[in-house]
Amino acid sequence: MPDAIGIDLGGSHVMAAVVDDAGKITLRAELDLEDQSFEAVVEAIGTVTDQVLAQVKKSDIAAVGVGAPGNVELSTGTIAYSPNLHWADKPLGAALGKRIGLHVHVANDARCATIGEHRFGIGAGSTDFVLLTLGTGIGGGIVSSGVLAIGHGAGAGEVGHHQIRATDGFQCNCGKTGCFEAQASGTGLIRQALALAPSFPRSTLVPSNVQKRGSKSIRKAAQAGDPHALAAWERFVDDLARGLANVIAFVNPEIIALGGGVSSAGDFLLTPLRPKVDILTTMAPRGSTRIEIAELGNDAGAIGAAEMARRGGLIAAVRT
Ligand SMILES: [Zn+2]
Repeated sequence: MPDAIGIDLGGSHVMAAVVDDAGKITLRAELDLEDQSFEAVVEAIGTVTDQVLAQVKKSDIAAVGVGAPGNVELSTGTIAYSPNLHWADKPLGAALGKRIGLHVHVANDARCATIGEHRFGIGAGSTDFVLLTLGTGIGGGIVSSGVLAIGHGAGAGEVGHHQIRATDGFQCNCGKTGCFEAQASGTGLIRQALALAPSFPRSTLVPSNVQKRGSKSIRKAAQAGDPHALAAWERFVDDLARGLANVIAFVNPEIIALGGGVSSAGDFLLTPLRPKVDILTTMAPRGSTRIEIAELGNDAGAIGAAEMARRGGLIAAVRT
């Protein structure tokens, strides 16, 4: 199978990669996004794509796949709605096809990352698999009986917006209260620490630093034994366990893989998390879902986007 180009489009960064049919990245180019306007983003994607295309024969590239944040109309590649980019109804696939001169397929970034992890990462060989990316929000993708769930309106897998604390949770960016991602993403961990700050006047975690340096500073402080950070970490793990138990009730996957910045905590996260999930797992046999750390890191989105494009778009690629 020929190589394909995978593009990972985030709110502040874009990466283009040439990916072979074994899921290996052979070339990459990256750019920070200064401007989130549609025209500027199309140009930025065009620039990084030109940079990798300059080093290969264009005729050797099967297609270009873009993993973009938000809801995507799969037949056209139009971004119907993207809160991260503040876009609605933007014809990304058509504009990039014209700019790059290759066939371009666009799909949601988390679904692309799920294809990447399922085919080439921790999920390889499993037929029932869920990827959850714990970052600014919680992105997700569900593979059930070997098929990636897309949904009637391409919205399947948006597990970040099921409510786990509807009455006592944090406000979510989507407008609801206590969504899974408001409680248990990297941003959720920051919120847990800020909410607990009044109870820990001698904490080494200074709220202004927490907001500036993000969830990593809380994780590091928790690992170093800071009581405030540990209390926040415990609440975060409790809320993560609630969401994971719900995911198990919905699809009982063989593996739930956790990606994103918080997942770099590894066993410090998994060791307290697994028994909490077990306690909340009722109808599915306890322990029938393994909770693991994802393997492809930040490259999962680009690798999956390339694979999606090589297979002719997300609908053609569902049997991963
Ligand atoms: Zn929400």
